[in-house]
Amino acid sequence: MIQTRKLAIACPQCASPDVFYSCTPNCCYNHVCANCGTTFEPATTISGGTLTGVIPPDPLPDATDPTAECARCASNAVYVTEDGRLVCGHCGALLSLEITEIAPG
Ligand SMILES: [Zn+2]
Ligand SMILES: [Zn+2]
Repeated sequence: MIQTRKLAIACPQCASPDVFYSCTPNCCYNHVCANCGTTFEPATTISGGTLTGVIPPDPLPDATDPTAECARCASNAVYVTEDGRLVCGHCGALLSLEITEIAPG
């Protein structure tokens, strides 16, 4: 079994970890930095390989915690493994994170 933790995304502008998800998955993935006000959208790409037995973080992420969508199955159950890789908790795809739509605040 593979233990995971919540996704953490640093601000692409000031590297602050105080980043909040400000929308809902059926709308967009707009995130905002509490430190400098920069907004951005994280996206994932398939990096190859699949993990099985992925255990979701406990507790699960809050609605305002950083979120990204799996490039394979469109689930937003994207977590980080203990060795720092991104994995989809739904389909097990290994993913890489990209930051898009960066708008400095
Ligand atoms: Zn920032
Ligand atoms: Zn997936």
